[in-house]
Amino acid sequence: MRYATIDPTRVSWQDLYGLAAGFTAGYVSNLTRGDAAMRMLVTGAAGFIGSFLCERLIAEGHQVIGLDNFFTGRKHNLEPVIGHKDFELVRHDITQPILLEVDRIFNFACPASPVHYQYNPVKTVKTSVIGMINMLGLAKRTHARILQASTSEVYGDPHVHPQVEEYWGNVNPIGPRACYDEGKRVAETLCFDYHRQNNVDIRVIRIFNTYGPRMLMDDGRVVSNFVVQALKGEDITIYGDGQQTRSFCYVDDLVTGILAMMAQDDVVGPVNLGNPTEYTIRQLAELVIEITGSSSKLVKRPLPKDDPTRRQPDISKARKHLDWEPTVGLRAGLEKAIAYFDGVLKSGTADRVSMGH
Ligand code: NAD
Ligand code: UDP
Repeated sequence: MRYATIDPTRVSWQDLYGLAAGFTAGYVSNLTRGDAAMRMLVTGAAGFIGSFLCERLIAEGHQVIGLDNFFTGRKHNLEPVIGHKDFELVRHDITQPILLEVDRIFNFACPASPVHYQYNPVKTVKTSVIGMINMLGLAKRTHARILQASTSEVYGDPHVHPQVEEYWGNVNPIGPRACYDEGKRVAETLCFDYHRQNNVDIRVIRIFNTYGPRMLMDDGRVVSNFVVQALKGEDITIYGDGQQTRSFCYVDDLVTGILAMMAQDDVVGPVNLGNPTEYTIRQLAELVIEITGSSSKLVKRPLPKDDPTRRQPDISKARKHLDWEPTVGLRAGLEKAIAYFDGVLKSGTADRVSMGH
């Protein structure tokens, strides 16, 4: 095996990259360079991306309020910041209004994997629409800048490849993915209407498939599925013929892009954030098997309805306006993710979420 096991109870982004070698200095964003510390609200803070975002904001000296209803999030993810004097965790559902005083809002609350967002599709729509209205209302009242975590799913099964921000997408409005795709599309609409109508200071990013430690083992997403299957020596489930493509971004690269988008004053978006290197799902499976040294076999399973055939971000806008592009290749990122999942499996750490129960 070419990876070291990481203790999942202690994992933080500093562990993953190492504070040594001046790494932190290189990764301090422009968000506050020369500015005073700000009051940051992160919704979906206990989730996969939200938890890494909270850590980076705390590391940069901000006060952070993390808000989550723990549908798919876990307090466990926030262990590196819980107890820090500048971090506060609030159990709250964004479909309900909340009164807070903040300078910046990162709206990440929303289940992101198909198995989770389709579990209660009506609630997924409410989170994207009512939750977005509540957060935009908060931004309007406090004059906070608000960044919305939108998604490549707004492009649906795209006819334009790679996907540019100008493309309006090809989404089935009544299919099983629509609660998420259309919910996120309306959330973007709301951002731009609050911007035009109420001058709310918005930022919209479209995130492409992101992976890394703290993904849930059983969330059905392809990276977690393949890695866990390979580590357990189980069959690797390829949906369809495996020729569909995705472009995988390592979570730390994404967080750097998020901070750069929030920091700059020039563009409101939408801006694509993702790794532009495209892989077939079969190639991903083969790479996971190679890195883990697993004896797992590839098996075919039916392709889920409306599964997009190709996905690759055009990140010209992010390069130009944010001076951002990913730095972690798929092999290096997978090695870190595999080390994390290996640690979880070996420790027997409970990896369950409430799913509203
Ligand atoms: P995640 O499921 O790990 O995190 C989502 C978090 O939001 C969880 O902690 C969950 O408990 C919380 N949440 C859900 N509904 C809520 C509600 N109504 N009120 C308060 N909290 C709520 O998912 P993630 O992968 O970290 O994704 C975070 C955000 O990024 C989501 O908005 C998602 O749509 C977006 N995104 C993620 C990806 C990806 O590849 N991971 C791609 C595109 C967009
Ligand atoms: N996929 C797969 N096997 C799995 C899980 C997913 O072949 O065990 C495929 C899935 O059909 C899709 C791709 O991998 O084509 C990415 O799926 P994921 O749910 O991770 O993300 P999304 O479809 O939302 O991009």
